Amino acid sequence: MDFLPIFANVKNTLCLVVGGGSVGARKAGVLLEAGAKVRVVAPEIDAELAAHRAVEAVIARFEATHLDGVKLVIAATNDREVNKQVSAQAQARNIPVNVVDDPELCSFIMPAILDRSPLMVAFSSGGASPVLTRMMRGKMETVIPQNYSRLAGFAERFRTAVKQRVTNPAKRRIFWENVFDGVIAEKVLTGDEASAEAMLEQMLADEDNIVRGEVYLVGAGPGDPDLLTFRALRLMQKADVVVYDNLVSKPIVDMTRRDAERIFVGKKRNDHTLQQEEINLLLVRLAKEGKRVLRLKGGDPFIFGRGGEEIETLAAEGIAFQVVPGITAASGVASYAGIPLTHRDHAQSCVFVTGHLKDGTMNLDWEQLARPRQTVVVYMGLHGLDTLCGKLIEHGLPDTTPIAIVQHGTQPTQRVISGTLATLPEIAEREKPQAPTLIIIGGVVTLRDKLAWFHPQRSE
Ligand code: SAH
Repeated sequence: MDFLPIFANVKNTLCLVVGGGSVGARKAGVLLEAGAKVRVVAPEIDAELAAHRAVEAVIARFEATHLDGVKLVIAATNDREVNKQVSAQAQARNIPVNVVDDPELCSFIMPAILDRSPLMVAFSSGGASPVLTRMMRGKMETVIPQNYSRLAGFAERFRTAVKQRVTNPAKRRIFWENVFDGVIAEKVLTGDEASAEAMLEQMLADEDNIVRGEVYLVGAGPGDPDLLTFRALRLMQKADVVVYDNLVSKPIVDMTRRDAERIFVGKKRNDHTLQQEEINLLLVRLAKEGKRVLRLKGGDPFIFGRGGEEIETLAAEGIAFQVVPGITAASGVASYAGIPLTHRDHAQSCVFVTGHLKDGTMNLDWEQLARPRQTVVVYMGLHGLDTLCGKLIEHGLPDTTPIAIVQHGTQPTQRVISGTLATLPEIAEREKPQAPTLIIIGGVVTLRDKLAWFHPQRSE
């Protein structure tokens, strides 16, 4: 950071503008708007400016005595020598000085501003590119409409009352966010301040319900942030706390609100039970503190995601929640690896199963899985790969049935390892795929050779 951004109080303070041309007049205008008294020094001064009641017009060339009693200086002449002199004299007296378009001579610079008083946004490139700065301001003009002034003024009027009523700072922040996000702000922005005031009074009167926490159970998809839904993104930007585990990719976690608290609840394989209960209780506790809690889960929350259990606890505790579906690993992996899950020539059905081993055995309906013309997708199956392939052959699938392991599907580190039920365990032993991995079994796997070539994400 090259400059410290501050907003200075110049009300009734004497400021000096050297230069009486259009630039000088504009700078004097900004100072006057901020309530300053302005001394303008120049051989010629615009008559309208000179007539302003807070302006002391001095028709002269600049001299050091013009700095007497001055708290802030702007030099806006078109003569660099004069500007230099103003800068040197002011700095000798420790008076902050700005020379228009000449950062070297400045002890402070003036930002481009977006004025929605009392809301004020300042833009600066530290003198690097005023044009870029003004373009940025132009963009923000459209994002922050004129009537935000009114909204900020409304908030200012209630600031003290709300502070007295909602004493907990975290709750107070949420209270205001709810006001700005909701119908009260809409009323203010459309000019109906009377209704807005009545609604705010009502909110304040109902002390227990002032701030109510809620939980967003959001599917984050298999890893590529482009696969998030709009709703997921909106809630990610809104939540006060983010609870996530190791299936959620880092670029996605980084897209949550900057100042949100982030809690990692990484789950280890075979160590789910206790942790899951702890997570359920954590969500309840955070929501009861009035927070908007984002429970971010890999893929889809309702597919092998234990989302059902989490909302069961919330429902039992009377906590508001919403569930946002995500792209499940099977869908994401299938399209990024070039393996359609169904295809008229290969598979009319597709089943998703979990290969998570309980007590070292895989408890699956092998008869059903070993059917022809069917795609089987196995989540959490890598550790049982030998058993999986063996059992499927035992129950009637040809040992030449194609099978693929997809590591880190949809992510830059995606890798596909393929073979047959007979060969894949040995290949996997050698290739050592890294979790998370998804296993896809069936004729559709052979389509990859034809289709993956065209996919931009093809990694091999
Ligand atoms: N709710 C998640 C699944 C959670 S179970 C979903 O709908 O996708 C965890 C398993 O999902 C992992 O063991 C792995 O089998 C699979 N998985 C999740 N993300 C994956 C990815 N990017 N690539 C491959 N497999 C993935």
